[in-house]
Amino acid sequence: MTDKPLVAITGASSGIGEATARAFSAAGHPVLMMARRVEKMEAMGLANSICRKVDVLDRDQINAAVAEAEAQFGPVDMMFANAGIARLADIGRQPPEEWDEMIDINTKGVMNTVKSVMNGMMERRSGTLAMMSSIAGRKVYPDHTVYCGTKFFVHAISESLREYLSDYDVRVLVLSPGVIETEVLSGVLDEQTLAAYKENKVKMGGGIGADIVGDLILNAYRLPQNALVQEICITPTRQK
Ligand code: NDP
Repeated sequence: MTDKPLVAITGASSGIGEATARAFSAAGHPVLMMARRVEKMEAMGLANSICRKVDVLDRDQINAAVAEAEAQFGPVDMMFANAGIARLADIGRQPPEEWDEMIDINTKGVMNTVKSVMNGMMERRSGTLAMMSSIAGRKVYPDHTVYCGTKFFVHAISESLREYLSDYDVRVLVLSPGVIETEVLSGVLDEQTLAAYKENKVKMGGGIGADIVGDLILNAYRLPQNALVQEICITPTRQK
């Protein structure tokens, strides 16, 4: 057992979510890990972890997983709304059907996740919400049109939530990474866009490790509750 507060993470089955779960678990926190590939999360065997099959589009699934973990470990003190997909493509070629799932997961999925713990944090007047945007939520790229739209959405709601929740002493942190080595490119279905992305990645000397992002989130979380890192924008040094 541990006396550290409970941390919850969506998209914990790979990439940045997995790395963040590993960082918090190693620091002694119980971690609620949520994603659809539950077997991947269970195979990690992290100390004090609860792994639940959750689709962020299903509010009941998120709420049930949070309630179950809170019954065992106490209130969620930190929620990382991280789950997302990247259907990058030239919008002229992209079939509209490709947008639907991405828009839902990256926007409604984030709100569903935040809402599952937000009111409890307001009542306790304590807690941290970390929300996954992207460098593509700060600047646009011509072959990321709809992805950029979803990530600008996250930037907008995180800024609004930060102001709204500041009176309740709840911290809101937005993440804006550049190229990080994860499974994210598996969501890119457009061959030309994928090839251009990979070429650009080689030019910048490759992406950076997801563990770096996980450690940054842990360090931001560890600051006193009255100190907020509003945004973590982390990119490869050579990324334009
Ligand atoms: P990965 O593909 O490795 O991880 C994505 C995670 O999201 C997986 O754990 C996946 O789990 C989960 N996920 C996707 N859809 C759902 C869903 N409907 N319900 C629950 N979980 C879901 O990529 P990253 O780690 O890179 O991506 C994490 C976040 O970081 C995304 O929001 C992405 O946009 C963002 N990001 C990534 C960058 C990068 O360069 N890698 C840069 C900037 C932002 P499962 O399939 O098991 O459900």
